[in-house]
Amino acid sequence: MRLRTRILGLGAMLALFSSLGLGLLLLSLQRDRDTRGMELRARAFLEAVQVGVLPMMAEQRVTDLDRLVSEVREHRLEDLDLRFLAVLDPERRVLGHTDPLLFGSVLDDARSRRFTEQDQVQLDQERDGDREMLVMSLPVVTRVPDHPGIRWGTLIAGFDLTEAQQAWTRTLIGSLALILVAALLSAGLAMLLLDGQVVRPVQRLTEVAGELGSGNLSARVPASSQEDDLAVLGRTFNQMAEALERQTHGLEKQVRQRTRELERANRQLQDANERLQRLAVTDGLTGLYNFRYLRQTLEMEMHRASRQKSSLSVLMLDVDHFKHFNDRYGHPAGDRVLQGIAEILKKRLRVTDIPCRYGGEEFAVILPDTDPPAALRVAEEIRQRVKEEDFSQETGTDSTSLTISIGVACFPIHGQDPEAVLKAADTALYRAKDAGRDRVMLARPPEEAHE
Ligand code: GH3
Ligand code: MG
Ligand code: MG
Repeated sequence: MRLRTRILGLGAMLALFSSLGLGLLLLSLQRDRDTRGMELRARAFLEAVQVGVLPMMAEQRVTDLDRLVSEVREHRLEDLDLRFLAVLDPERRVLGHTDPLLFGSVLDDARSRRFTEQDQVQLDQERDGDREMLVMSLPVVTRVPDHPGIRWGTLIAGFDLTEAQQAWTRTLIGSLALILVAALLSAGLAMLLLDGQVVRPVQRLTEVAGELGSGNLSARVPASSQEDDLAVLGRTFNQMAEALERQTHGLEKQVRQRTRELERANRQLQDANERLQRLAVTDGLTGLYNFRYLRQTLEMEMHRASRQKSSLSVLMLDVDHFKHFNDRYGHPAGDRVLQGIAEILKKRLRVTDIPCRYGGEEFAVILPDTDPPAALRVAEEIRQRVKEEDFSQETGTDSTSLTISIGVACFPIHGQDPEAVLKAADTALYRAKDAGRDRVMLARPPEEAHE
């Protein structure tokens, strides 16, 4: 069962039962008061009659007594429905009775005996069918100071309670209806108050706690101007939510900062790795690829060429008489010339070609997807450009020129693996040297090479 149903149900039941209980208590008090009032009126009536009958009994004026009783019978009493009135002498003989037929008879029933024996007012209730009767007795006594007095007899009167009972029942029904309406109203009021003062604030607290739980850290309980426990709970809850929001934002900020630092460090690491990778495959002097890279790439390119059934060429270049050049212009000038040749290579070659520094003043170039005639053309062009290049800037003299020799070998004609092709290109290079330098020489097919 939901809290709202429990609290409202409980409040309504409490209000209903307490109103009903209170109403019924008031009703029973009212009933007691009414009964007591009726008894008092009955007693007052008997005492008034006693004043009249006392001298008549004392003086044995039976006829007067009978007349008095008859008058009383004729007289309608206010609020009292007199059923009978009997005047008994000490022997319970009827001296006067509203029922004339009983005159002179002796009432010998247990109640009459009890009534005549007692010195006090006696009360009895009698039910006759559906009629109820109040029977009251009063001793007729002459009061003598410091003396029990002389008892002349007893007055007994019966009053019909039916009308009073009916009036009481009507009052009861009306009052019960009123009590019920009041009880229902107070139950409704209790529900309304409990709903506004307890249930709704608790529900709002639960909702906000739920919102916080699902990540809405800005959720707050509405401020209350009251000073009760629920309002204090709401304020404490809001303080907790604020602390949580502050801490979470602080943490998020820290995480963002750390992430940025980490990303920066990662980028630096990546750059360093890329630099390292480049360095690992780059020649420091010329910026061309180094021999290690040449060796790996050549193998890969050969696999590809073999898959695509295309040819691949390798150029092997060596500067002519470079020792002499160094001796003449100095080693640093030689270095600058090597850089100049590397630039010529880079400019002339396609992006897919791979120029490398093979070592010393020797270069190698891989030309993917290139057959011997095309490779020879490229080699010839490079040789020509180097020859035409003026290296005076590098040497610091007027005019300086150089020549190179190039050996060309192709896969798969001159070799089936990287070593074989490199060797074939190297051999062709030396043949170019032997033939007088400053020229390009194509490797011989393997069968001719072995001859
Ligand atoms: P040739 O090739 O025409 O037979 O004559 P060469 O004098 O060039 O002979 P070889 O190729 O054997 O000589 C290599 C010379 O190249 C030796 C060295 O003086 C020069 N050399 C090699 N590596 C470098 C280098 O890194 N920088 C410079 N400046 N010179 C180098
Ligand atoms: Mg050499
Ligand atoms: Mg040389």
